[in-house]
Amino acid sequence: PEPTLHDPTRRIRAPRGNQRTAKSWGAEAAKRMLMNNLDAEVAEHPEDLVVYGGTGRAARSWEAYDAIVRTLDELEPDETLLVQSGKPVGVFRTHEWAPRVLIANSNLVGDWATWPEFRRLESLGLTMYGQMTAGSWIYIGTQGILQGTYETFAAVARSLGRESLKGTLSLTAGAGGMGGAQPLAVTLNEGAVLIVDVDESRLARRMEHGYLDEYTTDLDSAVARAVAAKDAGQPLSVGLVGNAAEIFPELFRRQQAGELVVDIVTDQTSAHDPLAYLPLGIDVADWKAEAERDPAEFTRRARESMAAHVNAMVAFQDAGAAVFDYGNSLRAEAKLGGADRAFEFPGFVPAYIRPQFEEGRGPFRWAALSGDPDDIYKTDRAIAELFPEDTALHRWLEKAADKVHFEGLPARICWLGYQERHLAGLKFNEMVASGELSAPIVIGRDHLDSGSVASPYRETEAMKDGSDAIADWPLLNALLNTSSGASWVSLHHGGGVGIGRSIHAGQVTVADGSELAAQKLERVLTNDPGTGVMRHVDAGYEHARDIAHERGLKVPML
Ligand code: NAD
Repeated sequence: PEPTLHDPTRRIRAPRGNQRTAKSWGAEAAKRMLMNNLDAEVAEHPEDLVVYGGTGRAARSWEAYDAIVRTLDELEPDETLLVQSGKPVGVFRTHEWAPRVLIANSNLVGDWATWPEFRRLESLGLTMYGQMTAGSWIYIGTQGILQGTYETFAAVARSLGRESLKGTLSLTAGAGGMGGAQPLAVTLNEGAVLIVDVDESRLARRMEHGYLDEYTTDLDSAVARAVAAKDAGQPLSVGLVGNAAEIFPELFRRQQAGELVVDIVTDQTSAHDPLAYLPLGIDVADWKAEAERDPAEFTRRARESMAAHVNAMVAFQDAGAAVFDYGNSLRAEAKLGGADRAFEFPGFVPAYIRPQFEEGRGPFRWAALSGDPDDIYKTDRAIAELFPEDTALHRWLEKAADKVHFEGLPARICWLGYQERHLAGLKFNEMVASGELSAPIVIGRDHLDSGSVASPYRETEAMKDGSDAIADWPLLNALLNTSSGASWVSLHHGGGVGIGRSIHAGQVTVADGSELAAQKLERVLTNDPGTGVMRHVDAGYEHARDIAHERGLKVPML
């Protein structure tokens, strides 16, 4: 029988509480986080098993999903389930320290690592696109990206010599699972923002969750509202239903006519996958059918539209705006569509994030398996007490508690680095052991990370030693986390920027309150960010060397 890829009748919600049906918390946590990824509150298109990022899936088919859940419930505490691109393919006897699940998603041999070949294999039912945290079961909804986006816009403000974005206007597009964090990230930084999306339902969803203040289908009123907010120094996010390939050039024309001045321009449409970017001249309603009917022609048209979109961004840069690629391969795709100047604006990592990566800092996240928001508020307080000096962290935790609407299992994200994360993990484990938290906590991270990704258009763009495309690092990261006691480890290809453009790894570790969990957490949460410091030491970053010296990281040839 054909695998079921679309089933609008399925409604998934992870079990809550401290009773498990699986035989270990490692297996129970993996099962709940897989289910949580497909919760309608969390996933962008749960009926298609699509979590976020274009077509990033949690399982290959509904049959594969059911088989994973069944297998995790039956899995012994000394067994490991292997998942090959969303399909459970084997269970092996290992040992208690081993991960309960090992996942490999979307990996292809170099010469075959192209979208057409990937799609051919996908249509044969042999693979799936795992994105980053979709196929590795640690997506936590839009909050996951909110903090990083907030930090990025704060860094943009600093680069403009400002304390905040007050009195500035940002322009962006893409209000999907990740991109939907942009409007709130800008208003948390006190700025005004105009965000364009072709799909009205995405803007409506962001409003419902408090990430967007308002939206309209009318360009004139969107511009008027955004400009008024900028002039008044008020934070405001305005959504506009429209195609970025048309709206960006139009806004540039209006800027030249003196109607507005845009200060910051970026984009988070799903440009990494040309079939997930709507070209000009195609209606949202016909999108899927058109992409399926002739993927090659659709790709050509999408790239052509991206070129128009990017040419407008370059024009804004020429006119003095701060312009950056926000990690979606827009420049690369637009260049294929004929935008020769696409790479004249930088990616956000070299422009704003790399100094943090040198310290092994990056998005660190956890979710409460109890389902009780109070458990997260207690962990917020614990983090604030553990790091009393970090004022930016405190500011974030306060804003998050106030503004972040939980989607699915309550969760939190914050940026912590090497020799910091394990302190949080050990503290959470103690709080589970003492009963202060009502059920175990899962602790993981994004693959947008300092040590576990090779992605020359994003995380490893413009590395000091030119090692952008060296992919040994994520492999070593995954092997080390597997050896250190992680509960599940994943190794993916193509996340964020698309097939052929990245290799990256993830880990999730459970704090179930046991002594064994404490030992595992201490190792994983030290070693995992440690690989980020190591990678940047190796690439010749001075600050990373200082961190390695100060914090005792052993690097043989340093
Ligand atoms: P998504 O698929 O959920 O959302 C993309 C949105 O873009 C959709 O709402 C879609 O309607 C809209 N869109 C498509 N074509 C458009 C067009 N021509 N004009 C206007 N809107 C259009 O994807 P997502 O999860 O939000 O991710 C967006 C991109 O960001 C992806 O490429 C992803 O890989 C990348 N990403 C970046 C980061 C980061 O940290 N910078 C992290 C994760 C993902």
